[in-house]
Amino acid sequence: MDNENLLRAANLLHHRNAGLEKGDPVALPLTSSTTFHLPEVQGAPYIYGRNGTPTWSAVEAQLSILESAETVAFPSGMGAISAALFATLKSGDRIILPSDGYYVTRILARDFLAPMGVAVTEVATRDYASTDFSGAAVVYLETPSNPGLDLVDIADCVARAHAVGARVIVDNTTMTPLLQRPLDLGADLVVAADTKAPAGHSDALFGHVAGRDAKLMGRVRDWRRLSGAVPGAMEAWLVHRGLETLEVRLARMCDSAGIIATRLEQHPAVQAIRYPGLASDPAHGLAKRQMSGFGFLIGVTLKDAVTAERFLERCPMMVRATSFGSTHSSGERRARWGDAMPEGFLRLSIHSSW
Ligand SMILES: *Cc1c(COP(=O)(O)O)cnc(C)c1O
Repeated sequence: MDNENLLRAANLLHHRNAGLEKGDPVALPLTSSTTFHLPEVQGAPYIYGRNGTPTWSAVEAQLSILESAETVAFPSGMGAISAALFATLKSGDRIILPSDGYYVTRILARDFLAPMGVAVTEVATRDYASTDFSGAAVVYLETPSNPGLDLVDIADCVARAHAVGARVIVDNTTMTPLLQRPLDLGADLVVAADTKAPAGHSDALFGHVAGRDAKLMGRVRDWRRLSGAVPGAMEAWLVHRGLETLEVRLARMCDSAGIIATRLEQHPAVQAIRYPGLASDPAHGLAKRQMSGFGFLIGVTLKDAVTAERFLERCPMMVRATSFGSTHSSGERRARWGDAMPEGFLRLSIHSSW
């Protein structure tokens, strides 16, 4: 981790200090109240639970320290992604989406945006570099993509998108703001599933949108209040706790993933491997420039489905489950969900190196 990240992590830990009065609880109280004392409407920090709560504010303060930007919390990654899309798109617009990114985003675009008159163009992550973005309102990136772990050059896409008047939204779930900073590279909005490494314990769904354009973030905030896609108090509290250890967990996760990827690469049963930290990875050069760590996800291809399932079965310290970024290492064969990956492809999420 570089010094700026260590400082962000430390500021995150102490973000409530300045507001503490004598006798206040040091740990964040969980406020489940949906309504707030309101003798008059003007000047009240909290009004009603759909508009905002002290527990959301605390998580958003942490996320804003990490993103160096305004943030709006959502009840899931998809809640955040929906908000970003509905805040930026209208009928007649075009969105460019990765054909090999998180599949639910694609289905949302196909089944809900397209019927409302938004043209949806899918482009493979590796082809973004050669795609003309003319005519697009939104260029949506996911890097490294889930599950293929292909990378795109964010700064290059931002320059070409902005030149033709398109906004750039980046799904930064696989990296978190500690490992990759799309807003610093010019992206208009970041979306992320904090369900993964930020919450980090497989017990809370959560997401956020971050951005530095106050007007656009106002629309994102309005979307939350008007659509009612609001985080629960317990989840916000759990994510606040999870974020306090994100930096230390990530450091270990990245180190462990680097060790395991190097070992797997040398194993004769491994037909292909993607880990941006490997010198042999096609995106290694870009990863070194664009990311401040190589992440904790490894894509590994074994001979076939049976071999891949057997590998997972025989790893006692790997949970066979979907999702990633938790305190336990986990793995799954993505083709079981219909992802366009080889039958023997596994996405591994690494925590400890054993
Ligand atoms: C998990 C994930 C999401 C969706 O997050 P939820 O919290 O499950 O809604 C979005 N994008 C990526 C890249 C993800 O991995």
